[in-house]
Amino acid sequence: MKSSIVIGIENIQKGERPYAQNRAVWILAHGRKSTAMIYREFGKLGYEVSLLGMGCMRLPRNGDGTVNREKSYEMIRYAVDHGVNYFDSAYGYHNQTSEEVLGEALEGGRRDGVKIATKQPFGVMRTKDAIRRNLEATLRKLRTDHLDLYLIHGINGGAWPDIKKQEVLREYEKFKEEGLIRGIAFSYHGRYEHFEDIMSSYEWDMCQVQHNFLDTEREVTTKGIELAGKIGCALVIMEPLRGGNLGSAIDSVKKIYDSHPIKLSPVEWAFKFVANYPQVSTILSGMSTLEQVKENIELFSKGDMAPGNLSQRDLSMLEDVKKTYESIEAIPCTVCEYCLPCPQGVSIPGVFQRYNTSVMFGNFEPSRRTYMFLSRAGSDASKCVECGVCEKKCPQGIDIIQKLKTSHEALKGWVEN
Ligand code: SF4
Ligand code: SF4
Repeated sequence: MKSSIVIGIENIQKGERPYAQNRAVWILAHGRKSTAMIYREFGKLGYEVSLLGMGCMRLPRNGDGTVNREKSYEMIRYAVDHGVNYFDSAYGYHNQTSEEVLGEALEGGRRDGVKIATKQPFGVMRTKDAIRRNLEATLRKLRTDHLDLYLIHGINGGAWPDIKKQEVLREYEKFKEEGLIRGIAFSYHGRYEHFEDIMSSYEWDMCQVQHNFLDTEREVTTKGIELAGKIGCALVIMEPLRGGNLGSAIDSVKKIYDSHPIKLSPVEWAFKFVANYPQVSTILSGMSTLEQVKENIELFSKGDMAPGNLSQRDLSMLEDVKKTYESIEAIPCTVCEYCLPCPQGVSIPGVFQRYNTSVMFGNFEPSRRTYMFLSRAGSDASKCVECGVCEKKCPQGIDIIQKLKTSHEALKGWVEN
């Protein structure tokens, strides 16, 4: 009996679209021989992107911390040649070299077949000239005359009023009119209420949000995913493995996976969960080795990555996994943000989330790294002056000051080149 992939390939060769379920489609990538990467429609923009998107924030490094360019070129080119057509970068990634490496890797004919999304940091948006100069630097680094998606990097509830005031989006619209960018978008970490406000204030081409089976009631939640689909905004998912943590399983979780009749790796379950949403266009994976690129391409070329691929039994099993992880959380913070704003700018739930994730997975390294970004933004726990304002507002009765100290001791000290 032929597999659905084989039948799909034969149908494509006959010029037919072989398979469509909701908004997902299968196509063969331009002249590629062996894989049938899955593609999905990209919001209202009229094109399709590979379900696997390559995040360029964890490219391989040399011993001195700089990006290993040769290995990165090899990975990026392999990905393009095997059907990945969506690449995500940011001005700040890899000490401002990620865009340059991506641009160099795509030179020589690969640029035209892919979509490039990159992000502008809020810190450069002080004047209209600065916004334009930064975009021009990005275009130079990427060796291209246009970006397919230009994102405001990490909008949060606090920054959104300033972004509106400074008319950043008006500048982006001018870039669009000039053909320098083709889509206006944002990336976001935060709660649903702010996300809804941001989504309803502008007609975005795309939004990029964190989601995985642990975040169905956190970050933008399942409601946020549904909202993006409802208004036809292309949806890109980051952190499908929660900083890589869902790629392995602690003993209690392994038992749950092992007792399930369908045997898949933790990575496969995590990716399949996100792929299950018809609203999702592409899922970003920040890959660091060619092996990971190959494994992910194989995974995202399977027929069971279509929307609705999970049964009720699969979803119940993942709910059990989620509950098991949640039972290990050290600080009972629900990320409600009632304690904010802190007069000193401490990102209280951001600190607690990182600490909890580390305890949950028994691995502090990924959170230490992202805590370094909080420190750079002046929002880490060391800025707390113990005024006590937040503790009076916390519905969970958390001794925030003490817990911030504990978290800081566990998370501080990451050094990155
Ligand atoms: S106690 Fe610390 S974290 Fe809480 S509001 Fe005051 S400065 Fe901010
Ligand atoms: S108010 Fe309490 S539960 Fe809510 S985010 Fe702040 S610390 Fe967490």
